[in-house]
Amino acid sequence: MGNINKSEKRIWFYRILRLGLAIASGIAIQFIDLDHFEYLTYDWRMRFRSAPPVSDQIITIAIDKKSIKELGTFTELGTDISADIHLNFLKKLMTQNPHAVIYTINRENDIPIQAERNSVLELADYTLDKPIFIGRDHVFNPSDSTQSQFEEPFHKFKTLQAPITRDRETFGRDTVTRRALISFDGFPTMHSKMAQELNPQAPKSYRGQFDFYGSQQVHINYRPQGAYKPISFVDVVNGNIDLEIFKNKVILVGDDSGSNLSDYVTTPYSRDLLAMSNLEVHANILDTLLMNDAPLKSPPWLSWVLTCLVSILIVFVVLTVKPANGLTVIILTLIGLMSFSFLMFSTFNVFLEITHPVLAVFICYYFFIPYRLILENRKSWEYYHKNKLLTQVEELKSNFMRMMSHDLKTPLARIQGMTEIIRHDNTLKPEQIKALDTIAESSEELTEFIGSILSLGRIEGKEVKLNIQSKDINAILEKVVNKYEYQAQSKNIQIIKELEPLFSVQVDEDLIKQVFANLIENAIKYSPENTKILISTEEKNGKVLIQIADQGIGIDKKDQSEVFTKFHRSPRVTNGPIKGSGLGLYLANYFVNLHSGKILLESELQMGSTFTVELPTELNV
Ligand code: ADP
Repeated sequence: MGNINKSEKRIWFYRILRLGLAIASGIAIQFIDLDHFEYLTYDWRMRFRSAPPVSDQIITIAIDKKSIKELGTFTELGTDISADIHLNFLKKLMTQNPHAVIYTINRENDIPIQAERNSVLELADYTLDKPIFIGRDHVFNPSDSTQSQFEEPFHKFKTLQAPITRDRETFGRDTVTRRALISFDGFPTMHSKMAQELNPQAPKSYRGQFDFYGSQQVHINYRPQGAYKPISFVDVVNGNIDLEIFKNKVILVGDDSGSNLSDYVTTPYSRDLLAMSNLEVHANILDTLLMNDAPLKSPPWLSWVLTCLVSILIVFVVLTVKPANGLTVIILTLIGLMSFSFLMFSTFNVFLEITHPVLAVFICYYFFIPYRLILENRKSWEYYHKNKLLTQVEELKSNFMRMMSHDLKTPLARIQGMTEIIRHDNTLKPEQIKALDTIAESSEELTEFIGSILSLGRIEGKEVKLNIQSKDINAILEKVVNKYEYQAQSKNIQIIKELEPLFSVQVDEDLIKQVFANLIENAIKYSPENTKILISTEEKNGKVLIQIADQGIGIDKKDQSEVFTKFHRSPRVTNGPIKGSGLGLYLANYFVNLHSGKILLESELQMGSTFTVELPTELNV
């Protein structure tokens, strides 16, 4: 009892130890900074989901190659168009009362307007009382009126902060633009200002909003490149566009001439240097806020829990499940995690962190596999030793049996000889004769038993060599039947033979004789008096069939497959008066198999048994 408690305690100790190790691994893994990989998978998720719709509140106007070619000039920083043309352009737009016109400019403060002082000042004056702004890719304090955002002559333009972030030192660290600012130091950016103005029910706090160093941010819910088809600046100037479309819209104007890399960003969709114009990014940010559909990042604790659960699962699988099944579970776990995270993103726009759980799969697998190997090795070492010991014992046993059997043969022959001599004495009393008969019978039984043991020894020592010759099976059968005729008569059992003429078969006569002898002897042994035994032969489909059918005690269905195994005797006969070693059928079956044949058995309790020996006429050994 004490022992059981002790080993149970040990099992529980190891279980808890494993659980603790798994959780500790999970926690340790969670501390590894995997943002870069997390955002790589974030990009895949975004790329392969179906694109969200765009609102119809934004129109983008691109100062593209065509516009520059027809209207402007290339400068050191980028491309400029004269202030007069801009004035003309803005006047056209203003006829439709757009909600706002915003010139978005890049980090280098490259305003796409030629700096002829008077024209610029005239243009600035025109914009002063109209919703026309310059959106700077910068954060600043918009309420600080003392600090002009631009140098003369651009200092009069109204400016909004319209920053574009790039993941440089944090998040993905790959300069991809994924996030947008809603406000900085409490001052709203151009995007949230416009979103609030256009949407009276705009939320106080946006979906997926988070704080980051004094700013409020969201992840941009990107629409793929080209979702906002820009109108060419020159087409508006030349009047090729129906101006009505600008009514009440937020009009974003920006450079898309490909002349300056800082007018472009890389996105989750593409790492190409000109992947997306800032103009289009601004439209994406604005729509993310307008539709309040920014991706929602799952809370950090969920990733912790998931990582720990995965670690526990993998440790359990590695240590207890068969390696092949374990690998399947691990692959399924990986596929499950990936599919789940993709599904969460594509259907609920939820950004679930999965790189930590995925890493947990690999780390726990590689960390615990060696441990498992050590355990397995120890086990197979134990098995190996046990097996070696068993083989030695088995060998010892067979050797002993063989030696014994061999040594018993001579004294037994002497007993049989002496019995025979005494039997011829005429002065013996009937009881003495009966006693002598019993001695003779018993020593005969013992001789047979020893014969079987010696055959078994030869089989196990692989010493059986076939001496194949063409023989007439019927003739062999006749000889064996003759030998058992007397035994049958003593029980008044009639042996009927129906032997069809057969071609000669290639067999080892001695072995086949032993087979028939055993089957016929069994048929006599296990049949009551006054019954019949039918022995028949026939040739069928290139095989010779020898059938020995009796009307004896029969063999139980569940016992029928067992009777051919070594030392097996039916439970019904083990304690009965019929003696036997349980080796006869094992040897018979073995010998027939050596001839590429088989023995079939049909039997029913109390009705009798039929053993059919099938031998091929042509032997290939
Ligand atoms: P045994 O020396 O016990 O006869 P065998 O290997 O020849 O050993 O047979 C195995 C067992 O199969 C026997 O103990 C007996 O229970 C059963 N058996 C074999 N032949 C017959 C038969 N003709 N009728 C009924 N039972 C049989």
